[in-house]
Amino acid sequence: MIAHSLNPIHQPPKTLTQPLKPKAFKPQTIKCKPATIITSKLRAAVIGGGPAGSSAAEALAAGGIETYIFERSPEAAKPCGGAIPLCMLDEFSIPSHLIDRKVTQMKIISPSNLTVDFGKTFKHHEFISMVRREVLDNFLRLRAEDRGATLIKALVTNIELPISEKSPYIIHYISNNTHSSLAVDVIIGADGANSKVAKSIEAGHYTCAIAYQERIKLPEDKMKYYENLAEIYLGNDVSPDLYGWVFPKCDHVGVGTGTICSRQNIKQFQDAIRNRVKPKIHGGKIIKVEAHPIPEHPRPTRVRGRVALVGDAAGYVTKCSGEGIYFAAKSGRMCGEAIVRASENGEKMIGEADLRREYLRKWDNEYFSTFKFLDILQRIFYGSNAAREALVELCGDEYVQRMTFESFLYKRLAKGNPLLDVKMAMDTIGSLIRCNIVGKEMVQMDEFHKRML
Ligand SMILES: Cc1cc2nc3c(=O)[nH]c(=O)nc-3n(C[C@H](O)[C@H](O)[C@H](O)COP(=O)(O)OP(=O)(O)OC[C@H]3O[C@@H](n4cnc5c(N)ncnc54)[C@H](O)[C@@H]3O)c2cc1C
Repeated sequence: MIAHSLNPIHQPPKTLTQPLKPKAFKPQTIKCKPATIITSKLRAAVIGGGPAGSSAAEALAAGGIETYIFERSPEAAKPCGGAIPLCMLDEFSIPSHLIDRKVTQMKIISPSNLTVDFGKTFKHHEFISMVRREVLDNFLRLRAEDRGATLIKALVTNIELPISEKSPYIIHYISNNTHSSLAVDVIIGADGANSKVAKSIEAGHYTCAIAYQERIKLPEDKMKYYENLAEIYLGNDVSPDLYGWVFPKCDHVGVGTGTICSRQNIKQFQDAIRNRVKPKIHGGKIIKVEAHPIPEHPRPTRVRGRVALVGDAAGYVTKCSGEGIYFAAKSGRMCGEAIVRASENGEKMIGEADLRREYLRKWDNEYFSTFKFLDILQRIFYGSNAAREALVELCGDEYVQRMTFESFLYKRLAKGNPLLDVKMAMDTIGSLIRCNIVGKEMVQMDEFHKRML
């Protein structure tokens, strides 16, 4: 029992909200009811019900913590390509009926339209799963509820910081036009790239890319082509610093692109990717348009006091691939488990040092080098059309493919063969030099065409 060290909850769990008159709502001046109930368990709020939040809430609730998960729009679909690695299915027990498509072929297409079959080295049981986020997120949230977390369908509007080391955080939120508040001991901020939790603890800013996607319903014969195929398009036309994609889903494809340095031109890049795939999506109908920021770096601060950030809120999206679903779920779970451990299953109050030791340090030990490595690759290969040509040329190499997919599918650094590693390094340099020449020629041809017009 930790009743003496924890601050009491305002009301009993099921009626814990304290409705306020909407007009009179002033977050800073809310007077909380005096303590009436002494809770015996640590109380945690998870803000955000995406993969990060649901995984955090599941781990917390399973570990005996009194857990509340806030999600403003449980029915909405998070804008996303929805590609997840093989290891996530096992690690997070994702049932196969949630998967729309099992991608076993992947084409990567250079600025000059050189096409490489990037999936040649897939083993017979290997594939990339394509999911719709509204399906995956709903499943993960329900599972967290089954484990004992309480889902509050509400928009969190403000967080009051504690006035002393052990006093509670007060979360203010709006649900069904009613303003309410809840006192908790710890908070996990899983509220994505525009995180309110990050702002309230002054966690600092990060650079964001903007990503744009159209869901396009294709005629049956066109959909057949993309049955188990995903495509990646590279080139200044589709993105000056990232890539364009076509990912297959149940009855449509997601066609999208992203950019960091030229966000105002995102629609122009989207037109370009649609143009590059024009014959393959001819007759298709756009059924949904979606856009959202993607963080480019971890936040300067990810833990402050008894608040920890996870997933996009923390900035855990890899460069090069823009992959964040697995890292969101993984960081959420890691953070939830860290709180369970540090609080001895909710019996003990925790502090910032616990979160740093049990969550942050473990996360950085496991993933810092992966994120750094992909950051360097992005700088080398996504900077110019010449470098992109080199990348596609290299992707033709079976050893490069195997190493890439081992790392992506299983989230472990693939064990290489030293001789082949040296060959790969030499090939990289050779490709970069060769393609620099090709790239310069392409620029000259572009300028020539412009002069002729
Ligand atoms: C166009 C696009 C394509 C992408 N494609 C891929 C891909 O193919 N594969 C991949 O791995 N990653 C992809 N990503 C990245 C991936 O979508 C994110 O990394 C992932 O969603 C992060 O999960 P999260 O749980 O941290 O945050 P989110 O998924 O953003 O979830 C945050 C949740 O918090 C809720 N919320 C926010 N604020 C509040 C509030 N104040 N109160 C209550 N609730 C709140 C939101 O409604 C949301 O449900 C893509 C991203 C974009 C934009």
